[in-house]
Amino acid sequence: MCGAVEYLTGPLDIAQRAPRNSTTLDRIAAAPSVIPDLPDNLPVLVLGGSPPDLADIVWSTDARSPFSAIVLLDRAGPADLAAVLDSAEDPALPIADFSGAHYLRHDFTAAVLDRSSVADMKRCFSPIWRRLGDLPFHADLDDRADLIILRLAYSRASAIEARFAADSTLLVEYPLLGRSADLRRRLEAMADCDLLRRTHFTRTHVCGKCNSSRLHTYEACPDCGGSDLHDEAVVHHYSCGWQEPESRFVQDHQLVCPKCRHELRHYGVDYDKPGVVAVCHGCGVSNSEPVVNFACLDCSAVTGSEDATAIDWYHYHVTEEGLRALQEGRLPNLHVESMLNGHSRAFSAREFRLMALASMKVAQRYDRPFAIARLWVDNLDALIREHGRMRVHSGFQLAIDVIVETLADSDFVTADDDSAFLIAFPETAGHDAASVMERLTRTLAEKVALPFDLKARIAERGAAAELVPEG
Ligand SMILES: [Zn+2]
Ligand SMILES: [Zn+2]
Ligand SMILES: [Zn+2]
Repeated sequence: MCGAVEYLTGPLDIAQRAPRNSTTLDRIAAAPSVIPDLPDNLPVLVLGGSPPDLADIVWSTDARSPFSAIVLLDRAGPADLAAVLDSAEDPALPIADFSGAHYLRHDFTAAVLDRSSVADMKRCFSPIWRRLGDLPFHADLDDRADLIILRLAYSRASAIEARFAADSTLLVEYPLLGRSADLRRRLEAMADCDLLRRTHFTRTHVCGKCNSSRLHTYEACPDCGGSDLHDEAVVHHYSCGWQEPESRFVQDHQLVCPKCRHELRHYGVDYDKPGVVAVCHGCGVSNSEPVVNFACLDCSAVTGSEDATAIDWYHYHVTEEGLRALQEGRLPNLHVESMLNGHSRAFSAREFRLMALASMKVAQRYDRPFAIARLWVDNLDALIREHGRMRVHSGFQLAIDVIVETLADSDFVTADDDSAFLIAFPETAGHDAASVMERLTRTLAEKVALPFDLKARIAERGAAAELVPEG
């Protein structure tokens, strides 16, 4: 498929870059000479210019009526395309780029819009149209952005490949998806929720001042930070044990030990050269291990490699789970029960009930404290609207892991409904359980990026019975 090949080899620009894209050209040449029809004879939407005078295709400039593909011309900008795709019935429709703006999502590109390139475009789009037609698009508004990602990968029969992008401060892009803010975080959340599977692409580092990843790497002197280093052999004088770079021993074409002033005559008898050190021309200090620094190409700031934040980038493949979500037109819901899986202090509702009732009986008989807390996230819907279901999903999983790991060994938990859960605190009074909750809230704020508004209802002793799940 031309789309997939193109993403692997870089944007295809037939006129200027034919040799680099010979694979694509071969395929086009090998493709059947039949020019496919537009699906349902729907027009092609033109953005950024006037429709060309080509009779063998129906053009449209009205994004409100249905269309089968998009052609980008010179004046098409990212905002125009985003607005069209936002309201498009199928946001995964194929796109041809005749504008030269390679950073916009596209499946086909050529320098000139004419009969021949339009025929090539239709051949390229034909398998995409077929796969899109096999699986009509429907999505809840909250899930739309994530499902579009799955649909693009599915319809192009392609992985979501990462690629270096020197003109992006992120240094990496996903041509299949085009550029958009927060794309990596979205992909990562989808992978956390098993909709995508990762394979590692590369690790980038981030400028400590401006966050750009366009960094130049160099070895630097740990003392002065300069990069004017040269390697020099170390001379080791056997009789006094002195070691220094060779230049410090050189006096009138002879080697004289700077410590004991003896002349070094015979290699292997008087002295040897056990290694090499980096000597700094800037400050004269010699070091066996220079440090690695990053100089930012965008703001010139220097960040030490020790201090630079590292980002791992991945290629992503749609999983069975992802395909199922796409077919159903909705992403998996939050299920606290499955999120608690694998935690040793998590129990089924029935087990929790039995354990809680037994603990309460003991507490009553020996006049001991006992409390149960019901926890839920109060702003879940707002978070999903703002950040997408999958990011909230993976953030919530992290929150649950943090909460359960923080509990004492005697505490136990269960899911109460899809997005709430219960914690039982044996030997704990209500006010102590409340301070545990406060501590948890602070820990969550530190460890979980999303601002979960965690609410708790705490009941103690006999009153705890009202929070116990029904048997
Ligand atoms: Zn910078
Ligand atoms: Zn130096
Ligand atoms: Zn010596």
